[in-house]
Amino acid sequence: MVLTEKQKNEIISFCADLVKIPEESGREERTARLVRQKMEDLGYDEVTVDRYGSVLGVLRGCAPGPVLLFDGHMDVVPVRDKWDHDPFGAEISGGRMWGRGTTDMKGALAAMICAAAFLERTEFCGKIIVSASVAEELLVGAALDRILEDHHVDAVVVGEPTAMKLGHAEKGRASIEMISHGTVAHSSRPDLGDNAVYRMMEAAAKIREMARRSDPLLGDEVIELVEISSLPSPGNGSIPGRCRALWECRLLPGETESEFLERLKEALEGIDRTEIKTASYKLSAYTGEELEMDDYLPGWTADEKGSGLLNAAADSLRECGLAVDYYAAPYGCNALSSAAMRGIPTVILGPGDIGLAHKPNENIRLDELLAAAAVYGEICRKYSLVK
Ligand SMILES: [Zn+2]
Repeated sequence: MVLTEKQKNEIISFCADLVKIPEESGREERTARLVRQKMEDLGYDEVTVDRYGSVLGVLRGCAPGPVLLFDGHMDVVPVRDKWDHDPFGAEISGGRMWGRGTTDMKGALAAMICAAAFLERTEFCGKIIVSASVAEELLVGAALDRILEDHHVDAVVVGEPTAMKLGHAEKGRASIEMISHGTVAHSSRPDLGDNAVYRMMEAAAKIREMARRSDPLLGDEVIELVEISSLPSPGNGSIPGRCRALWECRLLPGETESEFLERLKEALEGIDRTEIKTASYKLSAYTGEELEMDDYLPGWTADEKGSGLLNAAADSLRECGLAVDYYAAPYGCNALSSAAMRGIPTVILGPGDIGLAHKPNENIRLDELLAAAAVYGEICRKYSLVK
C-alpha cells in the first residue's frame, strides 16, 4: 500500500501522542482512551474495551472472509537510566523518533491502527481486528489470550520489533518454582535439623546438569536459576527449614507443560522433600479486574498452516520494496498465546530493533515506521485474497 504524505504525518503524530503518555502494565487507562478515540475518528466499525482494558477496533471488509487480528501492546517498561533525550518527549531528530515505547511498541501500534483504517473497504474482505492490549510487559500473552477466548480469529500479526524481518518462530517461556523442605533447628545443633538450602543446592546442581533441548531454528533451551531465598529470614541462628528457587526458562516447541515438569522431576531423582511447579502471576488491570497467567508458554515455529499468512506477509514486504528475511524471535511476546497455545497462524513483524527495547535512548527510524504501516495495509489486502 502506498501512503500519502497526509497519512504518513498522521501515523507519526499518533505515535508521538502515544509516546507522550507513558503508562506501565496495568495502568494503561489514558493510552486506552487515546487509542479508542483515534479508532473512532478513523472510522472503525466497532470499538470496544474489554474487561481488562484492552481496546479492540473492528473493520469490516466488502464481503465475508477471514478474520485477521493485529496486536500491539500499550504498556511500556519504566525509565530508570539516564537518557540523552526526553524519554516522553517523542522528539524527532536524525530521521528518528526518540522515547520510551517508540520501538516496544507504540510505533507498530500506531502503524497498524492507522494503516488498516486507511484502506478502502473494497480492498479487503472478511474482518480486521486491531487489538491494543494491556500488560504484555508483565504478563506475556495473558491479555491477548483473553481476547482470543472471545473472538474467532484466523490469523494474527504481532507487531513486536523485528526490524521488519518476518518472525516465523519464537522461543517460549516459563517460570518454574522449586521448594525444598527441611527441618528448622538451632544452628549450634545442625544434627537436630535438616538444612533445606543444602537440599536445594543438590537439586539445583541436578537441574544444571540436565541435558538441554535444541532446535535448528531457535537454538538451545534455557533453564536458568534467577532467584533463591530461604526461611526463616533473617535466620537468627537457625538451620533453614524451607528454600525457594525460581528458574527462568526459554522453551522450544513440542513439549507440553506436564512433559516439561516430568523431565525436571526425573532430573531430581534421589532428591526428597522438593516440590516443583509452574509459577503463576497476576496483576490488577486498570479496570479493576484481575489478570492472571500460568507462566508456561511453549515455543513455536510456523508450519504449513501458517503459510497463507506467511506468504501474504512475504509478498507484502516485497510489494513495499522491503527484503524478505526470516527471523526466529529469541524473546517471548503475545504471539505465544496465539501461535503456541492456540495454534493460530501467526507472524511477528514490526518496525524497530529489539536491541533498543527497554533501554535508554530507545528510538525508531521514521522510514521504518512508515514502511511498517505500508506493509500492514498490504497484508490486510493480500491475506484476505490468499485465504
Ligand atoms: Zn513489547
